Amino acid sequence: MFQSLTQRLSGAFDRFRGEKELTESNIEEGLRDVRRALLDADVHFQVAKDFVDSVRERALGQAKIADKGVSASDQFVAAVHHELVELMGPEDARLQMAKSGPTVILMAGLQGAGKTTTCAKLARLLVTKHAKRPLLVAADVKRPAAVEQLRVLGRKLNVPVFHQEGLGPADVCERGVAHARAQGNDVVILDTAGRLHVDDELMDEVAEIARRTSPDDQILVVDSMTGQDAVRSAQEFHSRLSLTGVILTKFDGDARGGAALSLKKVTGCPILFLGTGEKIEDLDAFSAERVAGRILGMGDVVGLVEAAQDKIDETEAQAQYERLVMGSFTLEDMLAQLRMIQNLGPLKKVMGMLPGVGQQLDNLDIDDKHIKRIEALCTSMTARERLQPDLIDMGRRRRIARGAGQDVGAVNQLLKQWKQMKQLMKVMKKMGMGAGMGSKAK
Ligand code: GDP
Repeated sequence: MFQSLTQRLSGAFDRFRGEKELTESNIEEGLRDVRRALLDADVHFQVAKDFVDSVRERALGQAKIADKGVSASDQFVAAVHHELVELMGPEDARLQMAKSGPTVILMAGLQGAGKTTTCAKLARLLVTKHAKRPLLVAADVKRPAAVEQLRVLGRKLNVPVFHQEGLGPADVCERGVAHARAQGNDVVILDTAGRLHVDDELMDEVAEIARRTSPDDQILVVDSMTGQDAVRSAQEFHSRLSLTGVILTKFDGDARGGAALSLKKVTGCPILFLGTGEKIEDLDAFSAERVAGRILGMGDVVGLVEAAQDKIDETEAQAQYERLVMGSFTLEDMLAQLRMIQNLGPLKKVMGMLPGVGQQLDNLDIDDKHIKRIEALCTSMTARERLQPDLIDMGRRRRIARGAGQDVGAVNQLLKQWKQMKQLMKVMKKMGMGAGMGSKAK
């Protein structure tokens, strides 16, 4: 995914190499490349046009306030990054959970999009990450194979599957919800019928199911490999349902990325999750920030660390810990280390047991949102500022805050946290745990 888009964009950024500052004319040239790259990636043309307009506005704004320490290339990349996050997010969407009674999740989609598989993936996620007791309802009554497929997946997951022969799809769903209530299931996932194409019969059927079951979430499952068709079918479904979100499947494939970039803007529906493979655990919460990072070739570091999380063993935890202690103290290191602490439970446990360290760790606010804010601030800095945070005076703080869409207080807070981290390293060093620690950490 995104491979060719990433390459094309990096070509656009190369234009700025050697340019001292952003000017109207070099911005226009860069934007022309960006626009072509987006259209090549099958992004909806209006989306591409609006995107380019907002990058222009942001880049021109940055050109006015830039100081000499920031390269034109850094500024342009930051503008594109910011607008990508805006386009796909900006906030990461979540499932709506019912305040009382079971949460009803209606899953719709065309045949082959990956709907049945995704129902099972979602059930697994709700069990393992949210301690829920879901019930799967097989409502694709026309296709016995679909019912069987869901039963097989349910058995594998140890999640009950409801189905009743001889009933219409809306009846099956309604009874499924009643069954969940009676059995104490707190989430009901309705696997509705798919078709090869959107047609009136299908739409009437899902609309009737929605009317009878009042779902908290109405989710469309779309295949990212189908590009603009995915966007079109989302529009059609949205005209008949009140979609609350979309799940993009086959994100592991070599789709050009147009659907991911256009969906939110064209349909107004947020992307909730990404299907990243055929296995039942291959479902990731969608993060605009993370996907934007990936598109820009900045690496999906958070994703990689999270994927490693489940597999990590004690030896690896020790190795991570040593890397942490040996690390030097730039803001980049700090960010990487915060991610490690956040993601590597065992590491945090090991460190928390050290006298004097547990307390310091508690002082560091390292939830997901916080890390994202820090990432945005770091992206808004020049490489030199990240390497030598002491350089960051008031003028630079203002510029960094503006580039990241945050206030100066956030930059102050980040620098304070960086100092705390340095302090933490000092404690460890004193305890003889920092042998070989980088000389930059004072
Ligand atoms: P449905 O007709 O919409 O219910 O689709 P299915 O759930 O039967 O999935 C159709 C095919 O897509 C199956 O072969 C799935 O294994 C595959 N599939 C579903 N989601 C993904 C995904 O995220 N990545 C990949 N590579 N394959 C997927």
